[in-house]
Amino acid sequence: MFALTNVMRDYPWGSSTAIAELLGKEPSGGPEAELWMGAHPDSPSVAATPDGPMPLDRLIAEHPESTLGSGVHAAFGAKLPFLAKLLAADKALSLQVHPTLERARERFADEEAAGVPRDAAHRNYKDANHKPEMILALTPFEALCGFRPCAESAALFRAVGTAIAASGAEVPALLGAVEMALNSRMAEPMVVRRAFEALLGGGDETTALVELAASALADGGAAVASAASGLPANALSSLETVVDLAAQYPGDAGVLVSLLLNRVSLQPGESIYLPAGNIHAYLKGLGLEVMASSDNVMRGGLTGKHVDVPELLETVDFAPSGVPVVPTRTTDLDQHMWEPPFAEFSLQRVEISADSDPVPLVQNGPLLVLAVSGSVLLDSPRGDMALSRGGSVFVPAAENPVMVHPHVDAAHSDGPAVVFAVTVAG
Ligand SMILES: [Zn+2]
Repeated sequence: MFALTNVMRDYPWGSSTAIAELLGKEPSGGPEAELWMGAHPDSPSVAATPDGPMPLDRLIAEHPESTLGSGVHAAFGAKLPFLAKLLAADKALSLQVHPTLERARERFADEEAAGVPRDAAHRNYKDANHKPEMILALTPFEALCGFRPCAESAALFRAVGTAIAASGAEVPALLGAVEMALNSRMAEPMVVRRAFEALLGGGDETTALVELAASALADGGAAVASAASGLPANALSSLETVVDLAAQYPGDAGVLVSLLLNRVSLQPGESIYLPAGNIHAYLKGLGLEVMASSDNVMRGGLTGKHVDVPELLETVDFAPSGVPVVPTRTTDLDQHMWEPPFAEFSLQRVEISADSDPVPLVQNGPLLVLAVSGSVLLDSPRGDMALSRGGSVFVPAAENPVMVHPHVDAAHSDGPAVVFAVTVAG
């Protein structure tokens, strides 16, 4: 087993305290947005080996059979298939979508052939992999995820019109165009696409509509418009989200695109998964995100960064969908499992108190373990390691099975210990 040192990303939307509080560390003072745990070449974790520190991607590339196991090595190559991140959002991340594996391979090769520098602002594909992902809420967690049914979106845009009219302003033509698109009789994915394109391609008209809508919905305007339009109670949070997002990203088309999307509030322990093509944005909260090891993101708003609209339109799945919830399954051995329909990963949580029997970790090839509370002893036939809150470990496939034992030390003696572990899907 190898203790890990992980890389923190300081994106400006990050909370300056949430990750440090969870892990019991000193905050840096700046934003601490994402702690990357894995072997993505852009920010690999560093493993403490007997020969000194070594980036995890290199350790795996040099010893793929022992670190990944032959099955995972054969299926995914000499690379760790998954990447885990602690993600702490104080404000919204960009509205985004991830490509299919086929598209990522094709378009990455195109950009390489065209000589687009990997770090260019307009570069879309950082690697040749897809990025299916899941997020597990560790605090109440707010998100936008996938398109909602058109009738719901139409009702929300109608309420925006009501609020603007009530404020005494003239209702802009663009709002009428979006409503007309949403009420048309075409197939739903085409309807959604028309409305999405109208907002994204509206230029100054969109900017003006965002500002007008946000000011009309502020200061109780959302509640009045929602009641006047006879909307269901849960619609109010969608209208209020417009006000919140407009304060964070003034004039950004993504502010109104949010009304086309499912508005999701997760409680701690709840999880959703995001397949290729699902447009989503994380709005606020602390979560554990697990994904295929990729950084391929197409942005669609709520960002100052490059938005490649044609590429975005090719990548987004416009079919309205329900919210893709990942159910929690508790095994006979008291492991809590989240198993989204992706080959690259599954997530588990094990909680153990001082007098508990040891619990085995589910392991399919490599295993990454993070302690968020208390202290445990990880024990395998090849060796053992104490792991305390904030610590993380990479367990090679060859070290199997791993048992989690309670481990009481003077510094970490309060309450049960909790570890999360990521392995390849079984
Ligand atoms: Zn994403």
